[in-house]
Amino acid sequence: MELKSYVREIPDFPKKGVSYKDITPLLLDHEAMNLAVKLFMNNLPHGKIDKVVGIESRGFFFATLLADKLNAGFIPVRKPGKLPYKTHSENYELEYGRDTLEIHEDAIKMGERILLHDDVLATGGTAAATSRLIEKCGGEIVQCNFLVELEFLNGISKLDKFEVSSLIKYS
Ligand code: AMP
Repeated sequence: MELKSYVREIPDFPKKGVSYKDITPLLLDHEAMNLAVKLFMNNLPHGKIDKVVGIESRGFFFATLLADKLNAGFIPVRKPGKLPYKTHSENYELEYGRDTLEIHEDAIKMGERILLHDDVLATGGTAAATSRLIEKCGGEIVQCNFLVELEFLNGISKLDKFEVSSLIKYS
């Protein structure tokens, strides 16, 4: 079974020139989901993981599954104004303009070992902002993992302090 065959490419979505990687066919298939979780688990570094951070919203799917397998907590990182308690925020650059991500201030205890997860690594801005949020809270990132990596956008260069792992690559 090749996981890549479960990712549907949608040209010019959400705007012209972007080839959108739609993971919903993979989510529909129980065996493909199981395989993805198994591969993520096999690629993790040694040592305990205390919490898994998932980035809104497609990062939540596998982050919660991985948290369950790891007996770890799950932490949502969300768009501004969605989290109800006190938050830390980080801004990041988009192609046009800026965006912000937030985390609950009390989500991580000092020194906890954190796995950062999202569905797609593109330019790396989203994951890099999330890594700054985790570090603001005192967490230690043990790996950043992604279902899909768009290697040609070189997002990995924004995460060069961290171990990065992805299951499906587009070069
Ligand atoms: P970036 O900050 O450029 O690495 O973008 C990563 C975020 O945008 C992830 O949360 C993805 O869900 C989403 N994303 C960016 N590019 C794509 C793409 N081509 N297909 C699907 N999702 C994407």
